[in-house]
Amino acid sequence: MQNPYSNAMAQLSKAAKLIGLKKSDLGKMQKPQRILQANIPVKMDNGKIKKFKAFRVQHNNRRGPYKGGIRFHQNVSLNEIKALSFWMTIKTAVVGIPFGGGKGGVIVNPKKLSKTELENLSRGYIRAFYKYIGPRVDVPAPDVNTTSQIMDWMVDEYNKLTGKIQPAVITGKSLANGGSLGRNTATADGGFYVLSELIKKMRLKPKNLRVIIQGFGNAGANMADSLFHAGFKIIGVSDSITSIIDPAGKGFDSHIIEKIKKSHGRVDVCTCKKIKCSCVDHQHLPVQKILEQPCDILVLAALENQITKANYKKIKAKIILELANGPIAPAAEKELFKKGITILPDVLANAGGVTVSFFEWYQNIHHGKWSKNKVKTELKKTMIKSSDEIMSIAKKYNTDFRTAAFISALKKITR
Ligand code: NAD
Repeated sequence: MQNPYSNAMAQLSKAAKLIGLKKSDLGKMQKPQRILQANIPVKMDNGKIKKFKAFRVQHNNRRGPYKGGIRFHQNVSLNEIKALSFWMTIKTAVVGIPFGGGKGGVIVNPKKLSKTELENLSRGYIRAFYKYIGPRVDVPAPDVNTTSQIMDWMVDEYNKLTGKIQPAVITGKSLANGGSLGRNTATADGGFYVLSELIKKMRLKPKNLRVIIQGFGNAGANMADSLFHAGFKIIGVSDSITSIIDPAGKGFDSHIIEKIKKSHGRVDVCTCKKIKCSCVDHQHLPVQKILEQPCDILVLAALENQITKANYKKIKAKIILELANGPIAPAAEKELFKKGITILPDVLANAGGVTVSFFEWYQNIHHGKWSKNKVKTELKKTMIKSSDEIMSIAKKYNTDFRTAAFISALKKITR
């Protein structure tokens, strides 16, 4: 397994070198400003106390309060959270919103917790770190395995501890508790606008493009929906349990996959649940094999380090859209770039989520409520402006879109 923080630093060095970034500025970007750690005691349903290791990393607040999600996952590590907080600093600058970068995480498999235990853990996280967060200090949000319900518990705990009602302390809340319309689909919407901008520039037509999507959670499933409605052909999808491919290349209906995922807990277009089912319209593949299937666009919407030195040679996509954070290791990216594969990098492609988080924070601070239409319109404007900026920097420096995004961000952060 690659170290995600070394990956992030390799990306930083490449962009810093191209623009001759001052050593002192580079040093500031290489180290998070603060690393917080705690062992959270949680009362389990059997009456015993279990401790869970938790992190909050505050990378940089040069452009505004730290901003970044909280991840609940059994593989969370400090290096991962450091990398994710760094990418948040870059991402918020790429889309020009007034935030810095932070990230949090807990080492836990939340699927093994009851609802009460999950609530106890979420409230415990805030008790551990509440002195270091706040609407103008550090604004957490959901990430992998954390939901609007979890954000609601966290805000409630923060309000109890501080004695004030401050919904702007956390974004990604439920609508009833100050969340924004359009937040649920924001990451996928943002990625969709970036992809549409690219294919428009490449003069390609959705109906001629075959798409494979790895990961079918919030980001992947909503992306499938947008792509399906825009006429793209979704010929493969996967989740952590299975993957399916349409050998005829006609394309799946995203609604059917979503319905079955909801009722059976795995992506499928049938309900037979067999790895080798006899349905003629689709085939099952081992989960990771989906990445290697021929397609025009590969959407990575699961976890980091999915394309590495071990499998890059087998990638056949022409365009890769990173909805997940850090799904391609730098060594593999170099090779993909040489093969002529266009990568729409995470720091741009998945920045729709944090952009709408900013809209939510803004509405909370100003006691306002935007319509879904306003959220989508503002998001589209932001994503198109940022995409155009990155594409023209890439042209100017004759480099890939990730390096261009880093250049754009570094210039904004260090000016
Ligand atoms: P999620 O928990 O809703 O979904 C993750 C999905 O990935 C699940 O369907 C899971 O089954 C699947 N998965 C896990 N391992 C897999 C594997 N090896 N192969 C195929 N599928 C696998 O999470 P999400 O919110 O959709 O986030 C996905 C990625 O997008 C993460 O990297 C996250 O950091 C990033 N992201 C999400 C948002 C957001 O607003 N949701 C914003 C920015 C970035």
